[in-house]
Amino acid sequence: MIDLVKLGDKTYCIKNPVNVGIYVLEDNNVCLIDSGSSKQFGKLIETVLIEHNWNLKFIINTHSHADHIGGNKYLQDKYNCKIYASKIESYFINDTLLEPSMLYGASPLRELYNSLLYADGSECEDIKKLNENGITIINLEGHSIGLIGVVTSDGVCFAGDAYTSEKIINKYAIQYIFDVEKYLRTLENLENTEYNVYVPSHGDIENNSKETIEINRRVVLNNLEKVYSLINGEISYNDLLKRIFEEYNIGINITQYHLIGATIKAYLTKLVDDKRIEIYFSDNIMMLRKKIII
Ligand SMILES: [Zn+2]
Repeated sequence: MIDLVKLGDKTYCIKNPVNVGIYVLEDNNVCLIDSGSSKQFGKLIETVLIEHNWNLKFIINTHSHADHIGGNKYLQDKYNCKIYASKIESYFINDTLLEPSMLYGASPLRELYNSLLYADGSECEDIKKLNENGITIINLEGHSIGLIGVVTSDGVCFAGDAYTSEKIINKYAIQYIFDVEKYLRTLENLENTEYNVYVPSHGDIENNSKETIEINRRVVLNNLEKVYSLINGEISYNDLLKRIFEEYNIGINITQYHLIGATIKAYLTKLVDDKRIEIYFSDNIMMLRKKIII
């Protein structure tokens, strides 16, 4: 069942666990905002395009996470369309080995080549090369290294994973973040916009997202303080991670260990930058302690 929703004169959304945007250009051409979580989802998008007699001119990926680029290769092969993302994310879309490699820090374990972290690669270019009337690109970095949002001429803002709906937050207490400082700044910037419609990739479409953004901010600030409070006296990085999995009741596996681990490191970077904690080594163990404020 395809749930295609009209959001503006020229803008549609295929509602799914990952919302995919469609913006109608001239001469029955359209562009997509993201391509879904799999090749199968790419095929689903194709049926929508055929049904409406739309030709796919290009895809804009908000970022390179596998659930946003899963249909890229299938659709690019079918339509010979261009694909754009921010320059830094385009590397990860061309060479999808980079995503699990970044999380693992070396040639990834085989278990990390899974549909959450790894999709087929596709030819992707820097969004700066795109010159198309009616589309404005906004910087939403923080959740990922170079997340962008897409605002259409009819006032629809596709916000990628800059924030998610409350029900998603309730399901996943700690959501992946690459840079906590930038994530918070992006929330503030987004909060100060007045578009007609806001579409997060995961969750509900809203005319006003300020309340949802505030919930996202509160959760991230709470997580930051939780990490800080667990560094009570001193603690090793591994023990901190163990405590996080216990406190948030997260089932551990290879993927979660790396995703949550990377996110906790993002929180640690923020705490170190804010001069609230310091990292040191004791008996060859990486340790964390609160900074004494005199
Ligand atoms: Zn993401």
